[in-house]
Amino acid sequence: MSKPTPDLDALRLKMVQDQLGRRDITDPRVLEAMRTVPRHLFVPQDLVHMAYWDGPLAIGEGQTISQPYIVALMTQLMHLQGDEKVLEIGCGSGYQAAVLALLARSVLTIERHAVLADRARERLKALGYDNVRVHIGDGSVGMPAEAPFDGILITAGAPDIPLTLKEQVAPGGRIVAPVGRLDNQVLEVLEHRGRTWHVERSIPVMFVPLIGVHGWDEREYDRGRWFT
Ligand code: SAM
Repeated sequence: MSKPTPDLDALRLKMVQDQLGRRDITDPRVLEAMRTVPRHLFVPQDLVHMAYWDGPLAIGEGQTISQPYIVALMTQLMHLQGDEKVLEIGCGSGYQAAVLALLARSVLTIERHAVLADRARERLKALGYDNVRVHIGDGSVGMPAEAPFDGILITAGAPDIPLTLKEQVAPGGRIVAPVGRLDNQVLEVLEHRGRTWHVERSIPVMFVPLIGVHGWDEREYDRGRWFT
């Protein structure tokens, strides 16, 4: 007898209720976006049945789509109102970019693995996320030609926040990023307040590393050890 097909839309609503609503995700716009974006279309075919579990999943190239809760928390920390131009560094599957696309005016997302970037671009286009552009390259240097951004979201673990990224954020804008060591980081929120930056620390996290000029050297990490 064949297994019944899971009702993925129902699983998504349950994920939002159980994993987000019962934690500290309270922004109604973020909750609605998480109810809307079909996460199961951003994971590999053989992992669709796990798309709404409370954890990250492998997406190829040694990379991951982050846990739904982490995506929601980072999005909530961005404080988006709807008219922002956002830069995401670490496109991966394109899922986080899709969530941002529902909450901001436009999203530019950078991915260093061309295979992942091409896949994400096609997927986002097919799903009608017309306000997202996917760029292949080293996002640790940002995209000065497109600056200023109202917010920058880094979805890979950074040793610190490079000055060049700070310089690409408009006054009042934010940077949300996992910052710390290769094997564990803390989610940091930096707010651009005129001449100063206000820094807040959120929860401990474990992301795959940001590899690049202002990130880690690829040789410094043992591929496959990090999984978030
Ligand atoms: N946001 C993604 C999603 O929704 O699927 C998940 C991101 S995954 C945890 C981190 C991604 O950052 C990986 O795809 C990795 O290749 C990418 N990455 C790491 N260093 C990068 C860099 N310097 N520039 C662009 N992408 C980078």
